[in-house]
Amino acid sequence: MAPTAGTTRDVIQEPANWRTVPFLLTDTAGMFGQSEDPLQKIVHEHGRKAVLNADVFVFVVDGREGLVPADYEIASAVRSTGRPVIVAINKTDDRRARAGSLDFYELGFEPVVEISAEHGQGIGDLLDEVIERLPAKTEEQKAEAPEPRIAIVGRPNVGKSSLVNRVLREERMLVSDLAGTTRDAVDTKFRWHQRQFRIVDTAGIRKPGRVARSGQVEAVSVLTARRAIADADVVVLVIDATLGASDQDGAIAGEAERAGRSVIIAVNKWDLVKGEGADFAKTFDDKLRFQLKFLEYAPIVHISALTGERTPKLLEAVERVLAERTRRVPTPELNRFLQEVTAAHPIASGGRKAVRILYAAQVGVSPPTFALFTNVQTELHFSYERFLKNRLRERFGFAGTPIRLQVRKRKH
Ligand code: GDP
Repeated sequence: MAPTAGTTRDVIQEPANWRTVPFLLTDTAGMFGQSEDPLQKIVHEHGRKAVLNADVFVFVVDGREGLVPADYEIASAVRSTGRPVIVAINKTDDRRARAGSLDFYELGFEPVVEISAEHGQGIGDLLDEVIERLPAKTEEQKAEAPEPRIAIVGRPNVGKSSLVNRVLREERMLVSDLAGTTRDAVDTKFRWHQRQFRIVDTAGIRKPGRVARSGQVEAVSVLTARRAIADADVVVLVIDATLGASDQDGAIAGEAERAGRSVIIAVNKWDLVKGEGADFAKTFDDKLRFQLKFLEYAPIVHISALTGERTPKLLEAVERVLAERTRRVPTPELNRFLQEVTAAHPIASGGRKAVRILYAAQVGVSPPTFALFTNVQTELHFSYERFLKNRLRERFGFAGTPIRLQVRKRKH
């Protein structure tokens, strides 16, 4: 497949679009590889020339079959164009294919995306990579691109509605209310710093059912939060500065982590605790970190939805974590780094054979996902996994976003 801006003959082309960005998708089926038929050969040559005008190449390889000589032939043809090449490893629904995917990094292209055409897995990520590499988008297309979605969640009365209203009022840029696609809620679009955002709203957030018994209200708000989290890119977990975190906040945070969403902790009503002295913020945050242990990567922002203090900081944090979610670490840099780390702290193994990471690659974004190819079939101990994630964060950032590690025994 090769989306192209030009027009070609003799090849199958289909107009397509992703996230409102239109492009022409060219199928090169049968264009590469050997053929005995001289006529076929001429067609191939012709088609090839046309195809090599593409703006972006999606180089599809067969994960089950592994790297084959024909792949090198195609690699050199597309490399010679100097255009962006995305390697798509197909059939990675198969565990053996996933274990072998490391070989394709030898081709020397980035990014490498794992897909399953049959199961439709990874196709969205692949298309995101494609449109990112297309020649400059028009302003109109940029404006139409779907905006990042923010979910504002938390217990009743922490100030979620006040915060939503504050953000919208302060920025004075309410654009429109949009009917939700999957549920009967209404999302709100707004613009900030030239960028569009969307607040994922649920009926429950705007109109909390305060008439219900308090236990029920809590349960309902976790449910509402869960729906909002599923629809969001970034989750703003609002906590009342006068009350601190609760078990319910822990549950919401866990939900965000499992769903792979970025999280920012907004400690609201800071105006009420400002007089508490210089150490208060530190003591408060330490306690919060202790209570929400696994959210150590989430930035904490102290705000007041009532006065508007530091709410712009919250939006800055949203922008920052959005950028971190899609960060990609180049494979050579990642491997150098992991070699250093594992040399200093070898992986403890229960078995007889020492566990070594032979190679690593970032196989996904949003959330950043890393595959570690090992010499033996193993699982990382919880504490080692945590250690690696912390080192990755120290080195590469990834503020606010969960990190996923997958261990795969290398196929021989
Ligand atoms: P929600 O249930 O989480 O949506 O909370 P609301 O936005 O309805 O706020 C609950 C109460 O807290 C209201 O009385 C608000 O006026 C108040 N409140 C919200 N934010 C702040 C804040 O930053 N400071 C203070 N002092 N009060 C706030």
